Amino acid sequence: MSRKFTVIDEGFACAVCGTNVNPSGYTSRDHCSACLCSVHLDDNPGDRESGCGGVMRPLGLELNKKGRQIVYRCERCGVIKKNIAASDDNENLIIALSTRQM
Ligand SMILES: [Zn+2]
Ligand SMILES: [Zn+2]
Repeated sequence: MSRKFTVIDEGFACAVCGTNVNPSGYTSRDHCSACLCSVHLDDNPGDRESGCGGVMRPLGLELNKKGRQIVYRCERCGVIKKNIAASDDNENLIIALSTRQM
């Protein structure tokens, strides 16, 4: 049995908590919906050019025109990045981040 998947929105197993994250169905899934962690793969969104591979941990939450953006710092190289929070992200962690001082 082999099936071909050509969609870019793909599920993955989280490198931090091991949760199998399902594709979001509407946007590129770029972080774990359970622990909100991400992996530093991109220099620019979606390019997979970074080669760093460090774990991106959420630092805080920013509210702006794009909605809720989670602010990340890479544990390995220290770069700061932002990802838009998904609708099925762990709401308790989102709330905890929104009250954290950056
Ligand atoms: Zn996770
Ligand atoms: Zn990095």
